[in-house]
Amino acid sequence: LTSGLEAAWTKLKGEEVLTKDNIVEPMRDIRRALLEADVSLPVVRRFVQAVSDQAVGVGLIRGVKPDQQLVKIVHDELVKLMGGEVSELVFSKSGPTVILLAGLQGVGKTTVCAKLANYLKKQGKSCMLIAGDVYRPAAIDQLVILGEQVGVPVYTAGTEVKPSEIAKQGLEEAKKKKIDVVIMDTAGRLQIDKGMMDELKEVKKVLNPTEVLLVVDAMTGQEAAALVTTFNVEIGITGAILTKLDGDSRGGAALSVKEVSGKPIKLVGRGERMEDLEPFYPDRMAGRILGMGDVLSFVEKAQEVMRQEDAEELQKKIMSAKFDFNDFLKQTRAVARMGSMTRVIGMIPGMGKVTPAQVREAEKNLKLMESMIEAMTPEEREKPELLAESPQRRKRVAQDSGKTEQQVSQLVAQLFQMRVRMKNLMGIMEGGSIPTLSN
Ligand code: GDP
Ligand code: MG
Repeated sequence: LTSGLEAAWTKLKGEEVLTKDNIVEPMRDIRRALLEADVSLPVVRRFVQAVSDQAVGVGLIRGVKPDQQLVKIVHDELVKLMGGEVSELVFSKSGPTVILLAGLQGVGKTTVCAKLANYLKKQGKSCMLIAGDVYRPAAIDQLVILGEQVGVPVYTAGTEVKPSEIAKQGLEEAKKKKIDVVIMDTAGRLQIDKGMMDELKEVKKVLNPTEVLLVVDAMTGQEAAALVTTFNVEIGITGAILTKLDGDSRGGAALSVKEVSGKPIKLVGRGERMEDLEPFYPDRMAGRILGMGDVLSFVEKAQEVMRQEDAEELQKKIMSAKFDFNDFLKQTRAVARMGSMTRVIGMIPGMGKVTPAQVREAEKNLKLMESMIEAMTPEEREKPELLAESPQRRKRVAQDSGKTEQQVSQLVAQLFQMRVRMKNLMGIMEGGSIPTLSN
């Protein structure tokens, strides 16, 4: 997935902004990459549409290249697709919290039972497991052994009792023992079949569970979407657990669950050990898929520093030659922040290295300027001409800020130079006049 997406960014090198035309190729790469990662087609279609709409609508952010911008949009959409925030497990307010696990055979249900108990035990909750897979004696033994391993009791009733009856007995036992969380293991089949669904429905009726979690193997490809949909429609799930994320899964299932069921992935399993269960973090998952963490934080910081509206307003001011000391301060501060940010992030491609000495110099200059601008009246800040025309005003600013008159003159001159330089930059060659300082 990562390498397929990288092709998409590469195609934007050298572009100025994202446009309807120049995103066509990259979007095709993104679409292909998602399909190759086994994301189901309807999900891919909606995703690509959402990204395209945003990419074309997004404006230019200073210092951010279009390919970086597209990475950010794709990242944010991925996070959204996977539910945005971490989804916590829900606990019952009275009586035991009941968690029913469902899923096909071999996906990791029985393992998850014990892992989950281990996970919740660490949070100080008492747990009990119920062995509901009555079709194979080995399944019951497996749960008993795992229960012992994590130090959690397992309720068993052999293979002769109906799962719904086992559920009922197990729940009663848990209530008697004042257990906090009951986790029920169930039998899976290789394929979805009516027998399995009916049995789950019956168990669900008896347990009235707080959570019904569908256990999904991360290796499940395209079928994940149909699988999740069926379980959700038939028995109603509250979330999913994605297992075997440690394998070389292509990640498709992770992207489909929320989109097709509206239910979040709550936990992920990334190994066979009892400790290998953790909350599902959509942003980390998206970051891993993209493998471009530093570009993302760069774009975020740049957005913070120079929001688009600010940039536009600034541009208008420059065009109308109204750039004043307030803008000067705003811009200088933004540049200074950009400087220290670059130092933090370090190796952003194409940003050029900023040395620590340069950053210190910029910060020192900023302090100097700030103190002089603060000593100006609001009127002077808005109309720098007042200072250009009046040596008395410059003298007062110098005294109030504890700087020399020469330093104030320099600052005033700098502002007018900046007006001209910016106008030139904009390609508006009106022969901008620099007012000279009168003495
Ligand atoms: P069930 O049929 O759904 O109950 O699946 P099991 O819990 O018996 O697990 C089937 C196999 O998958 C076992 O060999 C587990 O050790 C293995 N397994 C379960 N979860 C994970 C995981 O997160 N990572 C890996 N690598 N293996 C897992
Ligand atoms: Mg099992």
